[in-house]
Amino acid sequence: MPETNEASSANPPPGSASEETIPDLASIRETLESAKSLSLDLRLSEADALLQEVSPILDSLPEDLRMEFFINRSICSGRMGNMAQSLKVARDATRLAEKLGKPRSRLLALKLQGNCLSSLSEPSLALRAYQDALGIAKQENAEREIAALYNNLGALHTRLGDLPEARACYELAHSLHEAGGRISDAIRTRVNLAIVLFREGQLEEARARFEALRGEGHALDDPENLCLSIWGLADIAAEEGRMDTAESLFEDLFARLSRHHLQAWLAEAHLEWGEYLARAGQDKKALVLLESARTRADSLGIREFLIRAHREMAGLHEKNGLHEEAFHHLSLSTKLEKETATALGDNRIQALRIIHETDRAHYSAEIQSLRNKELSAALEEARQQHELADEANRLKSEILKMAAHDLRNPIGGIIGLLDLAILAQSKSEGTSYVSRARDEAASTLSLLERLLDAAALEEGRVATHPEPLDFIAVLEKILSENILEKARRKGQFISCDEVASSSVIEADPARCRQILDNLLSNAVKYSPTQATIRYGTRLENRFLVLWIRDEGPGIPEDQKDRIFKPFARLPSSVPTAGEASNGLGLSIARHLTEAHGGSLHVESDGLGHGSTFFLKLPFSQDKR
Ligand code: ADP
Repeated sequence: MPETNEASSANPPPGSASEETIPDLASIRETLESAKSLSLDLRLSEADALLQEVSPILDSLPEDLRMEFFINRSICSGRMGNMAQSLKVARDATRLAEKLGKPRSRLLALKLQGNCLSSLSEPSLALRAYQDALGIAKQENAEREIAALYNNLGALHTRLGDLPEARACYELAHSLHEAGGRISDAIRTRVNLAIVLFREGQLEEARARFEALRGEGHALDDPENLCLSIWGLADIAAEEGRMDTAESLFEDLFARLSRHHLQAWLAEAHLEWGEYLARAGQDKKALVLLESARTRADSLGIREFLIRAHREMAGLHEKNGLHEEAFHHLSLSTKLEKETATALGDNRIQALRIIHETDRAHYSAEIQSLRNKELSAALEEARQQHELADEANRLKSEILKMAAHDLRNPIGGIIGLLDLAILAQSKSEGTSYVSRARDEAASTLSLLERLLDAAALEEGRVATHPEPLDFIAVLEKILSENILEKARRKGQFISCDEVASSSVIEADPARCRQILDNLLSNAVKYSPTQATIRYGTRLENRFLVLWIRDEGPGIPEDQKDRIFKPFARLPSSVPTAGEASNGLGLSIARHLTEAHGGSLHVESDGLGHGSTFFLKLPFSQDKR
């Protein structure tokens, strides 16, 4: 007696209206419909023949019709016991249903997959398929499908021998079917529950249930359930050794099954009765039934029944000394078993493929979600960049404001001085106004040049023109022409404490002067009067190093890098004689040094301890 699945009860989805109007497709749809009813009636060879008619033109069919074909093929093949094919096409149907966005069809196809996998003793894969189907059924609020799936889960657990779990599933399915008023479905789950009792050996209780069910089956004119309850009663009688009762019940069952063309069940019932008879020692009768089961199974292509029939017949012949016959059946059953094992192996491989595909789909979804996370991280970064750009823009306008301010003062001064010069006209004072105006103009020009330099260096637009250069000679020239006078005015001393043995380097003379001028001017600018500024040159590997130590305010640790950024001015560093300060010199100097392959940095023991600047330039130009 078979525990029954509900795969075939769901209707394939209706096709679209436009396709219905094309006669060719309409007739194919009709063929598929007929194949479906034939499969449901277990007229499997006929269903199979119809499906084989459609098979050659499958590729030319629209996808939804192809999907229906696959579903029907899966139902029919599954009932015929060709699980390999059934599983394969159920999988194709699942994929198409997903592609076409047809959840109901996907549900049905997954259920078919579950049924195949369950028959193939792949419980975990079957469970997964059923669970996926359940997920869809719940989403779709398809209560009938939920119940049907629980029924199938019950069948799976029965097959696995986990009867308590099977009972729980059937009971849930039963209450759902009852609540939904689906009487025939509810009876089917009651039949399944009675089968569980029978399997548990609770024969009395099972008999009572089957009898009640037989009554209901009669009353409702429900042939399938009626057959199943009679079958249950026949099984119980045979189990109990009441062979006469069993015989008449089986005879009744056979008549009903053939009346309703339930061919596969008929083959199975013959087989079972044959097995019972063989066990009871009624060999002759047994052989008749087994032979009938064998022929039917053969024409239906149900391999499992064929093997069982051959094996049983081999045993009977052996028992009766008919060794040749026994050998014949035995070799047939072995051959079939081998084929089945291969088919089962193939199926298992297919099943594994399914699981891998599912996993891949699952992981690709995860990867997608990771990608989305990366995307949002990128967006966040873009947002931050945007903020930074805003900040940079804000700084730019600040700087412009500052530059405008710094330029306005000296220009204002120039105009004022020129006005005075005009007023003074021929008077002797005029000359001094003009010369001061000239000084103001010169410092404005130098500020402008620095601004332009800084901008060009930031954008990497400055080229250097290195040539062999005596560094110490350049240094001394700047000191004598420019710095010593400035220091003298502030009462400062400048002392050379160290001289390198060689000082010819490759450098751009103008740029080199610019760097030195900035460093020495700063030392003077930020040191108090009477201070001593010390400097020295030395060789360090391939570098010529110039150090300049001042007695200025020193640089706080956390500002040592910042002073090399454009427009950085430390509140702690105030020019001691009111000299101009625009925060550009050091940034330009560092850029230029690096363009020569050198480096510039400061060391200071902190505020109040003075600073030492280190300029390193390579002997040969080495722009690492
Ligand atoms: P400027 O001196 O024109 O402001 P710089 O780029 O040469 O511009 O210097 C940047 C800032 O670094 C100065 O504003 C000052 O705050 C600080 N600084 C530079 N040199 C020294 C020094 N020798 N001692 C102390 N602070 C200094």
